[in-house]
Amino acid sequence: MTMVKHVVLKSRPQQQMKAQDFAVTESPLRDLADGEFLTRNSILSLDAGFRQWMNAGASDNYLAEMTLGAPVQSIILGQVVASRNGQFPEGSHVVGRTAWETHSIADGSDLMTIIEPDPEIALEEYLAALGPSGMTAYFGLFDIGRPQAGDVLLVSAAAGGVGSLVGQLGKIAGCTTIGISSSAEKCRWLVDALGYDHSINYRAEGGLKQALREIAPDGIDIYFDNVGGEMLDHALSQLRMNARAVLCGAISQYETSQPVGIFNLWELITKRARAEGFMFSDYVERYGEAAAQLATWIKEGKLKSPLNITTGIEHTGQAFCDMLQGGNLGKSLVRL
Ligand code: NAP
Repeated sequence: MTMVKHVVLKSRPQQQMKAQDFAVTESPLRDLADGEFLTRNSILSLDAGFRQWMNAGASDNYLAEMTLGAPVQSIILGQVVASRNGQFPEGSHVVGRTAWETHSIADGSDLMTIIEPDPEIALEEYLAALGPSGMTAYFGLFDIGRPQAGDVLLVSAAAGGVGSLVGQLGKIAGCTTIGISSSAEKCRWLVDALGYDHSINYRAEGGLKQALREIAPDGIDIYFDNVGGEMLDHALSQLRMNARAVLCGAISQYETSQPVGIFNLWELITKRARAEGFMFSDYVERYGEAAAQLATWIKEGKLKSPLNITTGIEHTGQAFCDMLQGGNLGKSLVRL
């Protein structure tokens, strides 16, 4: 009998998530029903956004609050090893939303897509630059941010899975790029490895406000917001005329019981600016277009896709907590 290992949510996190909030459990694989298929998963995605749905009462129109004791929902990459669904034949490589587990039973819903791995590109990239993080960076920047050559682009959580790509895409579009991160070392990496024009350590003395005054005294045209809260509020106060705030995520708010209010919305009026939220899944029909362009840039050496890989399902919970605390450079994944 095949046993499946899962990472389950053992306890509701009390603000800052701990590895002990997760447990690894095993259960026997059940038979497939008509329309279902079985994947053997090789890579699990660690996405900061999923932290939000681990909180009590977090249900919204995108996902329901995660259930205690149930496998933690996540995006996986796997191969179909048995199928009773003609659209997902045995042998297909798939990416989709199931859970942190060694095998998943799926029915083709939940963002499940077949991928055709390119032998010149590492399989991991299909959960990184060519997966959800890449789709988020690409559509968030190009469709919502609409960069023009010469724009000043500010990116928060710039060293993470999404942010590490946004800055590079901004350079391709001809922007001056400024990345925000939490340490001098990460800030150096943003400039040296990723080609950000400037970086800001928000924990340094003077923080974001002082550094932004020095680097962008005339303000910013695009703010790609991964953080929310005070950082968003300050960025709004620095918008130029007709600026765009891309509301992608709010990681500073996922683990707090005291969310920060936004006071600078008036700036949107006087600057004729736009703030717009989006979910990468809105663009599922256009994934192919983005993946083709991103793959071309990777092969041309114009786009680096840094990966922060942990090995072994038993380390998934710790790796997720480390990522939430900023212990990652680039996209965080678990290889099984
Ligand atoms: P990530 O950026 O790889 O990791 C999270 C990073 O957030 C950490 O490395 C840390 O970097 C930073 N951070 C943590 N707490 C912070 C705080 N209080 N203030 C400022 N920065 C903080 O994670 P990701 O999965 O790529 O997600 C990044 C953001 O994109 C999240 O907000 C997520 O919800 C959002 N997202 C949205 C969509 C969508 O469809 N809208 C899709 C994917 C992701 P530092 O060390 O630099 O602080």
